[in-house]
Amino acid sequence: MSETRKILTADEALGLLLSHAGPLEEIESIHTTHALGRVLAQDLVSDVTVPPLDNSAMDGYAVNTGDFSDHESRLRVAQRIPAGSVGHALEAGTVARIFTGAPIPPGADAVVMQEDCRVEGDAVIFAKPPVAGAHIRRAGEDIARGQTVLLAGGRFRAQEMGLAASIGLVDVPVFRRLRVALFFTGDEIVMPGEPLAEGEIYNSNRYTLLGLLEGLGCKVADFGIVPDNLDATVAVLEQASHEADLVLTSGGVSVGEEDHIRSAVERVGHLDMWKIAMKPGKPLAYGKARGTHFIGLPGNPVSAFVTFCLFVRPFIQRCQGAHSVMPRSYLLPAEFVWNKPGMRREFLRARLIVKDDGAVGVEVFPNQGSGILSSAVWGEGLVEIRENSIVCKGEPVRFTPFTELLHA
Ligand code: AMP
Ligand code: MG
Repeated sequence: MSETRKILTADEALGLLLSHAGPLEEIESIHTTHALGRVLAQDLVSDVTVPPLDNSAMDGYAVNTGDFSDHESRLRVAQRIPAGSVGHALEAGTVARIFTGAPIPPGADAVVMQEDCRVEGDAVIFAKPPVAGAHIRRAGEDIARGQTVLLAGGRFRAQEMGLAASIGLVDVPVFRRLRVALFFTGDEIVMPGEPLAEGEIYNSNRYTLLGLLEGLGCKVADFGIVPDNLDATVAVLEQASHEADLVLTSGGVSVGEEDHIRSAVERVGHLDMWKIAMKPGKPLAYGKARGTHFIGLPGNPVSAFVTFCLFVRPFIQRCQGAHSVMPRSYLLPAEFVWNKPGMRREFLRARLIVKDDGAVGVEVFPNQGSGILSSAVWGEGLVEIRENSIVCKGEPVRFTPFTELLHA
């Protein structure tokens, strides 16, 4: 419990958490069609040249610029090359009808687009000489044979899937999916679909965390709601830790006598509990339960959401083998006033305002309470307010969009 008493900054907490994260060792080969969101486990090197041959960028005529006079030229069409077939060497004084993607025949050094010439019988009339190299896509201008096209640690988006396919890969090597076991503590928590008795609330964290984990491509096992009781918490924790790489919980992580996460994790492993000088979300627990990573999030819905985005997401990404785990943020002028300086760093739910002239500013939700999940729905990202600081209207503030915080 070395870090228990110390209050950490958000940066220190993230640094500590990441120091415990390491990439999974198991690699699997999957169909390139299924690679979306997965992390590449080995560099991909191309065995082919893309495009394989010089080819036409236009529908038109492949020509030899040496056949042209300074003014109008009339040249005979001697062959036709659609995409997928190969022509033969251009005879002097002739041109080839050619289509987009078709290989440039030997002897041709430019393509004239069909819009720039006129056909008369079997001849084509060109108003002016073309420039050598015009409308030719060169062999290898996208990818050379032997080139590393994708680096290990990168995540597949649609365009990486396409690029892997463009070098002919049927399968790609990726890290296996991270298995995350979830459970939720609280005698007051019930599942939607169940009747809500007095004093009870619905388990919204389950849905928020499922969405966040699925967005990161994790395999989730849900162990449900666990009552505020030590033995019950230990029992579920033991089972969850057997089946997962990471056990993630919400609630019960403070030091009240109804909070059992800390004692439960210490029974089956060890725990570092960190108080983080941030708002929302002060307590965050990290430890190992039977050798499995454990992260305990606070129960308040906004705290759970924000701490997941800022801490758990990069931790998971690091475990998934991703090389870049830090979200990008931008400085934008505040369209609000913040005159409540606090000792803790605040992460406000915020959204962009685009003005008539296209200038962008950022506004914040009026109620920043840690139970106000509507603020996260209204918002498009988080604004960071440094410790002990105020913000005047128009001052630059750091905005991190949810697009950088929610998904892979
Ligand atoms: P705790 O961290 O257990 O002290 O809970 C803090 C607050 O979050 C309490 O108001 C809880 O009712 C609420 N809370 C805890 N777990 C959940 C959950 N799964 N869904 C929604 N609210 C929760
Ligand atoms: Mg509780």
